[in-house]
Amino acid sequence: MQGLMQTKALLISTLLEHAATHHADVEIVSHVDMSTCVRSTWGTVSSRAQRLANALQGLGVAPGARVATLAWNTHRHLELYYAVSGMGAVLHTVNPRLFPEQIAYILNHAADEVVCFDLGFAPLVAQVASQLTSAKAFIALCPRDRMPALDLPAPLICYEDLIDGGAERFDWPALDENTASSLCYTSGTTGNPKGVLYSHRSTVLHCWTACATDGLGLSAQDSVLLAVPMFHVNAWGIPYAAAMCGAKLVLPGPDLGGERLFQLMRDERCTFSLGVPTVWLGFFQYAEKLDPEARAALRLERVVVGGSAAPRAIIEKFEHLFGAYVIQAWGMTETSPLATIGNLLPRHEGIALDQRFGVQARQGRAIFGVEIAVFDSEGRRLPAGDRTPGELKVRGPWVVSAYYGQQPGTELDAEGWFATGDVALIDADGYVQITDRSKDVIKSGGEWISSIDIENLAVGHPKVKEAAVIGAYHSKWQERPLLIVVPNEGVQVTGEEILAFLQDRIARWWMPDEVVFVDELPHTATGKLLKTRLREQFRTHRLPTDTAAG
Ligand code: ADP
Repeated sequence: MQGLMQTKALLISTLLEHAATHHADVEIVSHVDMSTCVRSTWGTVSSRAQRLANALQGLGVAPGARVATLAWNTHRHLELYYAVSGMGAVLHTVNPRLFPEQIAYILNHAADEVVCFDLGFAPLVAQVASQLTSAKAFIALCPRDRMPALDLPAPLICYEDLIDGGAERFDWPALDENTASSLCYTSGTTGNPKGVLYSHRSTVLHCWTACATDGLGLSAQDSVLLAVPMFHVNAWGIPYAAAMCGAKLVLPGPDLGGERLFQLMRDERCTFSLGVPTVWLGFFQYAEKLDPEARAALRLERVVVGGSAAPRAIIEKFEHLFGAYVIQAWGMTETSPLATIGNLLPRHEGIALDQRFGVQARQGRAIFGVEIAVFDSEGRRLPAGDRTPGELKVRGPWVVSAYYGQQPGTELDAEGWFATGDVALIDADGYVQITDRSKDVIKSGGEWISSIDIENLAVGHPKVKEAAVIGAYHSKWQERPLLIVVPNEGVQVTGEEILAFLQDRIARWWMPDEVVFVDELPHTATGKLLKTRLREQFRTHRLPTDTAAG
């Protein structure tokens, strides 16, 4: 027997309609560049997205067509999110920090017909335009008086002209909820980037997780500083979830420096923010120097940290300097990205702060909608509480089934699991601890050493700005950990000091064999440590402990 409830489709356009009906006056604050701040509302986003959809239709953008963006977090990017997906086309957010050759590859692979870009990316567009095989139009995200002079192989259109020329009302089509809505490529640190194609249904379901109390707890009470870029897995779903709950959005544009983030949090009374660890390292470089009175001006309550492991030092600083709770979240482009979220359980009520930080330093528990499990090298599922790390697999309605261009299900095993490539363990309370990417694991004498654990501890040293650990060749042990450190500006620090700091905090056989100092570490386009480059750099490095090496 079938249920007798309505089967209204889960569509991105319904999120915007809801926000425009019930939260029309809630502000969207957009810092387009260093000197231009545009204040609008969910009501305005809705009316401009409708005009934009009409104008894009006029340009010939048909259902299913891909529209690319090379853009920071601004109101215009938000309008594109809703207009493009809402009309049944596919929004392809491109990470502008990728190499130009990768950008050209991605735009051609996705067969993007329209390329929208912020003015700061005009030189990049000029550089790749001649290599593009499907672009029929370029849209500069600016008003008429700021239009760049570019020589492009297809028409260059002004975004604000499009909005001005678009008819006022657009009836969002009643799409099948499984229609593709947006496309995001993985960073491609190994091989070419791969496209993850989200649907309206996966996107709307994912929103509920962001708004659930034991998810990210986003609500109409929040003013959100979106410090994770909108080209990074749909800014972790927040541009959609904020419409679902009617949260205020503060979009910082290109400047993610510590001072600017602090000012925005203070001036826009932000309660909630999200970003990768490197953004917060920069934030504290600034915020730590302020006097307590200046810091007291923030009313920050929760900060989501993800994309890489949240070092305990970040968790502690948010608590001690601002009384803000760090929610660590783990996920990937392939999981939309929210998959595990670090909230507390009743059994943590009243525990010492130090212990609580330990819980927060893990990657959180599964949320409804994403099943997680760890498997050993023979493919046997390990029980929660098992201390042996294994490969983390996931499945659920907002987890990828195949990459763009493949047959559905291509990436899944017989039980429907997607293998994440992360090595993890799940503790007895269900908290996941990511110990490494499988390709970054250090194999020392048949045992595994977690580079993430050592990195996080090293960053806790007051003189350390950033740290990376890689396996360096050792003739007896196969690999031993090499700790590569960027010291804080203007301080003197020795390898002995850092090793002494780690001494009682990690197992003896995990202790790095050597500490080397560098001015900076290489990062991927999404701010992760680029370990392939480091391994290459230190490929012939000889550890002082390797006395047998020739
Ligand atoms: P993106 O950062 O764009 O999602 P990827 O999808 O390539 O890029 O990155 C996903 C990977 O990032 C995960 O597989 C995991 O290795 C790492 N990651 C994400 N969040 C965390 C976290 N909280 N702790 C540790 N690693 C994380």
